[in-house]
Amino acid sequence: MNVPYGEDLLMLDDEQRAVQEAARRFAAEVLRPTGILLDRLPAEAVVAPDSPLWQVLTQASELGYTRLAVPAEFGGLGLSPLESYLVQEEFAWGSVGLSAVIFLSAITAGAAFLSGNSTLIEEFTMPFLEAKDGSVIGCWGLTEPDHGSDTLAVMRPELRVKVRGQVVARADGDHWVISGQKSAWVSNAPIATHAMLNVQLEPGAGLERGGVCVLPLDLPGVSRGPALEKHGIRSLPQGELFFDDVRIPLHNMIVGVEDYPEHVQRTLTAFNAGAACSAAGLARAAYESALAYTKERVQGGRPIFEHQSVRSRLFRMYSLVQATRSLTCHVSVRSSTMLEKGEAAPLQDSITSKVFCTRAALEVATLGVQLHGGAGMTKEYPAEMFLRDAASLTIADGENELLAQMGGALL
Ligand SMILES: Cc1cc2nc3c(=O)[nH]c(=O)nc-3n(C[C@H](O)[C@H](O)[C@H](O)COP(=O)(O)OP(=O)(O)OC[C@H]3O[C@@H](n4cnc5c(N)ncnc54)[C@H](O)[C@@H]3O)c2cc1C
Repeated sequence: MNVPYGEDLLMLDDEQRAVQEAARRFAAEVLRPTGILLDRLPAEAVVAPDSPLWQVLTQASELGYTRLAVPAEFGGLGLSPLESYLVQEEFAWGSVGLSAVIFLSAITAGAAFLSGNSTLIEEFTMPFLEAKDGSVIGCWGLTEPDHGSDTLAVMRPELRVKVRGQVVARADGDHWVISGQKSAWVSNAPIATHAMLNVQLEPGAGLERGGVCVLPLDLPGVSRGPALEKHGIRSLPQGELFFDDVRIPLHNMIVGVEDYPEHVQRTLTAFNAGAACSAAGLARAAYESALAYTKERVQGGRPIFEHQSVRSRLFRMYSLVQATRSLTCHVSVRSSTMLEKGEAAPLQDSITSKVFCTRAALEVATLGVQLHGGAGMTKEYPAEMFLRDAASLTIADGENELLAQMGGALL
C-alpha cells in the first residue's frame, strides 16, 4: 500500500493541508513541466525574454508564493513557519531550480525590511510587495571567484584566513563606492533587478571585516556575466556580477563590520535550513517517480516492484525520504519561529539538516536512476535530472564536507 505523505508524518490540520494541496497543484501543473523544459534549454535561453521562466515568476507572484511569510495586509500569504515549510517541500518536489528562483526573488526586499530603515523599505521592500507580476527580483552575492568555502571561516576565529575579499566597499563622503566581482554562482543574477551583497569593508583585513549592502542593479558601473552553463539545477539562472566604482548611499550598508560575523552565521543558518527543505522535496520526487516506474516495468515476467531486491531498495529510499522530511521540517519550523522572534537559531541544527538531507537526496536519486535501469540514463524520465540536481544541492549553500567540518567543530 502506498502510504500518503504529509498528513501521516507531519500531522497537519485542515488549513495546513489546504496550503499543502494548493502548493502541490502548482508544483505538479506548473513547476514540474516548466522545470523539465528549462532543464533542457541552453542557459541563455532560460533567461531570454520569451523564456517560460517569466510566466512561472508572474504566476507565483500573483498567487503570493514570492511573499510566503508576509502578512496578508501587505499582500503576502501570511503563512506560519510550518505552512511555509510545506510550500517549500512541494515546490522543490516540482523543481528545485524554479523553487529557488521564486523564493530568492524576495531576498533583497526582505533584507531591506529587516534593516528597519524606512528609506530602504520604501526603495526596496515596497516595490517588491506592490509588483504582483514578479518583475522585482532579488539575488544574494556572497561567493567570489577566489572565495567559496573561505566565506564560512568568517564565523570561526580559529578558521579565519587572512584573505582579502574581491568586492570592496570604500567610504567616499556620503556614499560607499563598490568595486570588484562576485562569482558565477550568484543565483538569479542574470535576471535580478536588485541585490544583497557581502562586501569587504576593511581592505587588508580578513574576510571577517566585511559588511552587507543592498542596491539596485541598474546603477552605473554594474554589469553581469552570461548565464552559467551547468550540470544541475539548470532552471535556476546563475551568473557573475561586476562592480566598477558603483556608488550607493551610506545607509544602504545594512550590516557593518561589528555585526558582520553574526549576520553571516544567521544567513547561513537560514539558508542551510532552506537547502534541506529543497532536498526533502527532491528526495520525495525521486522516490515517487522510481516507485511508479517499478510498477510499470516488467522483467522476469512480473513488474519489477514485485522483486524482493527492488522492494528493499524502495524501502531504503522511502526511509530516507521520511527521515529527511521529519528532520528538515522540524529544523526549518524552529529556525523560522526563532527568526520571527529576533532570536538566533542554532547553526549546528541547520548544518546537520542540510548535510544529512542533501546526502540522503543524493542517495535516493542515485537509487532512483539504478531502478530505472537504462531508462534512467535517458531524458524520457526525470530520474537523471533529479540526480544532477541532488549533486548540486550538496555544494550549494556551503559544500557538504566543509559544512560537516564546521558542524564537527561545534560538537
Ligand atoms: C546551485 C548553487 C547555488 C548557489 N547559489 C549561490 C548564491 O545565490 N550566491 C552565492 O554567493 N553563491 C552561491 N553558490 C555558491 C556556493 O555557495 C559555493 O559553490 C560553495 O560555497 C562552495 O564554494 P566553491 O564552489 O568556491 O568551492 P571551493 O570552496 O573551491 O571548494 C572546492 C573543494 O575544496 C574543499 N575545500 C575548500 N576549502 C577547504 C578547507 N579549508 N579545508 C578542506 N577542504 C576544503 C571543499 O570541501 C570542496 O570539496 C551556489 C552554488 C550552487 C552549486
